[in-house]
Amino acid sequence: MNILVTGGAGYIGSHNVIALLEAGYNVIIFDNLELGHIETVNTLKSLNTKGSVIDFIEGNLLLLQDVESVFSKHHIDAIIHFAAYSQVAESVKEPLKYYYNNVLGTMNLLSTAIDYDVKKIVFSSTAATYGEPVYTPIDEKHPQNPINTYGRTKLMIENIMDDYDKAYGIKSVRLRYFNVAGADSQNRVGEWHNPETHLIPNILKSTFNNGKVFQMFGTDYDTKDGTCVRDYINVEDLAQAHLLALKYLLNGGETNYFNLGTNEGSSVKEVFDVCEKVTGKKIPVERKPRRAGDPATLIADNKKAKEVLGWTPKKTLQDSIKTAYAWEVELSKRLSNQVK
Ligand code: UDP
Repeated sequence: MNILVTGGAGYIGSHNVIALLEAGYNVIIFDNLELGHIETVNTLKSLNTKGSVIDFIEGNLLLLQDVESVFSKHHIDAIIHFAAYSQVAESVKEPLKYYYNNVLGTMNLLSTAIDYDVKKIVFSSTAATYGEPVYTPIDEKHPQNPINTYGRTKLMIENIMDDYDKAYGIKSVRLRYFNVAGADSQNRVGEWHNPETHLIPNILKSTFNNGKVFQMFGTDYDTKDGTCVRDYINVEDLAQAHLLALKYLLNGGETNYFNLGTNEGSSVKEVFDVCEKVTGKKIPVERKPRRAGDPATLIADNKKAKEVLGWTPKKTLQDSIKTAYAWEVELSKRLSNQVK
């Protein structure tokens, strides 16, 4: 079974490639390496997963001939589509870039898929499609009113997928991620963004001597300790949900959508405390004003994914922080070797 993974050289994509290979699927990675890393592709290619084959095609979703080259080279049974820009602040500053890359890129992928009769796609959506929570925890019936361009691009794609199902019979599963955290438990791949904007890697980077002081954005929210509450879902648990979503579609499942989270919220301060515990270090912190556009609380209701996909997240926040820390240590070594 051949699975096309767009964005397979990125953070969430690479963990999914490992899960797919380990489950015996052949994987074709399509990535333009703008945000993904060739080192990650090389690591994935060197995995010795018996029975499954991996190919990497460098290309851009905005160039139809690049997308076409994937489908003409390989028979594709299903697609898992990760490739996207995902920084909220940047999306507000440069909306055009986000509409082109995320929306138009996906339309190119879908229209080529239609040409080649590929009708199953698992799509990386986001809790950002819900916008400011009206109630919590957030289930899939919660209104989708995104408050930033990033969330709007993902919601547009969800809507496009509904229309494409009606017109062309493309079946999709949209997975709405809450806050993805952690790294591969064997430390082969991990979160590697430049610049890094996410909470856990930023706290952990501050443990290194050359790291910046960690900035805590907002301590006056209406939450248990004044800092924002988020639902941190482990990246390997997330990958397992993608495998289940893929199987659901391969077994003839209808278009559907699921929240991926843990049903539990942790505050920025709690995450910070776990980071100090896991690293055994006193981490320098500076209290800063609120970051624009951050809702106070975002917690998933994950009942539907449990019931329909049979998915259960297994890892704790501490598990995620442990693997994230091991990865940060590895990454800082790699980056300092590059500088030498
Ligand atoms: N945050 C922070 N310092 C940072 C990065 C994030 O205090 O360097 C806070 C951010 O304001 C939010 C939470 O951590 O309340 C999670 O932010 P992140 O960017 O990781 O994910 P988001 O919820 O925005 O998708």
